[in-house]
Amino acid sequence: MKRLFIGILFFSGLALLAFTYQSDVLLRHEPWIELSNTQKKYQGVTWKITAYCPGSCCNKSVIGTNIVDYTNTAAVGGVKLTALLDNTINVVAVDPAIIPLGSIVKYNNNYYVALDTGSAIKGFTLDILMPDHEQTEKFGIQYSDNIEVYIPHNPAQMIKKVKKTVLEYSNP
Ligand SMILES: [Zn+2]
Repeated sequence: MKRLFIGILFFSGLALLAFTYQSDVLLRHEPWIELSNTQKKYQGVTWKITAYCPGSCCNKSVIGTNIVDYTNTAAVGGVKLTALLDNTINVVAVDPAIIPLGSIVKYNNNYYVALDTGSAIKGFTLDILMPDHEQTEKFGIQYSDNIEVYIPHNPAQMIKKVKKTVLEYSNP
């Protein structure tokens, strides 16, 4: 009886491990897929879509007389754009007056998290993060009226979740 009990413990331990691993994988690759607690907005709007990379070529802006360098920095703070890319988190820069940071944007069957802003990103404009500059040039400027925007009731919670994922999985 004792041996059976130990056996049961062992196998429930294994099952628990398998379950934990599974949910980690889901969290790592699709932390933003929970759309149940969101509000769908801006249907029928035509969006201008551009692309950017983590390099200095795409992350400098002129503020007054100063050039401010935002290279590899996401607006949500404390997170590197390359770390987000490494964790397969799709990032889009938005106008936070239109889309609150932490919202989810669906474009071309991909889900992006609004985690960044930009001086040129105003109104119904999206700027998609790509791993290198060559890809951004290939993308160019596109227009689409097939964009789905999901605004969570608590966008800050989404940002927290993404940051936690990035910090947990990024190499120090
Ligand atoms: Zn660039």
